[in-house]
Amino acid sequence: MIRITDEAWQVMVEHAQRQYPDECCGAMLGVVRPEAAQPGAEPTSVKVISRAVPLVNTYQGEQADRYEINPMDLLKTDREARAAGLELIGIYHSHPDCDAYFSKTDLENSCPWYSFVVLSIQQGVFHHANSFLPNAEQTHAEPEPLFIPSSTTH
Ligand SMILES: [Zn+2]
Repeated sequence: MIRITDEAWQVMVEHAQRQYPDECCGAMLGVVRPEAAQPGAEPTSVKVISRAVPLVNTYQGEQADRYEINPMDLLKTDREARAAGLELIGIYHSHPDCDAYFSKTDLENSCPWYSFVVLSIQQGVFHHANSFLPNAEQTHAEPEPLFIPSSTTH
């Protein structure tokens, strides 16, 4: 389960809309909090994203359907997160004029320890978003319950 705070969400949506019709990408920082489980149920945790960091799409080609993050940018963001007492929890990117699904390319470029949030931008405006958890073999990504500020939902 992943929950994005107003502040981080605003940064993500503005970034995605600004980069349209290209794909944007960035990092999501926050903390993992244990959730009180129902009696008899497995204990769960919730990832709370309090900060979004826009990164440069370094893909050398048509950026309308592809993104690439420089590993050094990610490393730097990871260090800054730790220094601020936060964790690098996931990666976000946008799908211009496409649904927020997890593509084959997304799967191939994924890391199993991150949450991947995809924002669908339709005609330059935010439409909907989904989060995915890829497996270690990069053969499948499980949908992850995503909670975003309600003012932006459709
Ligand atoms: Zn994608």
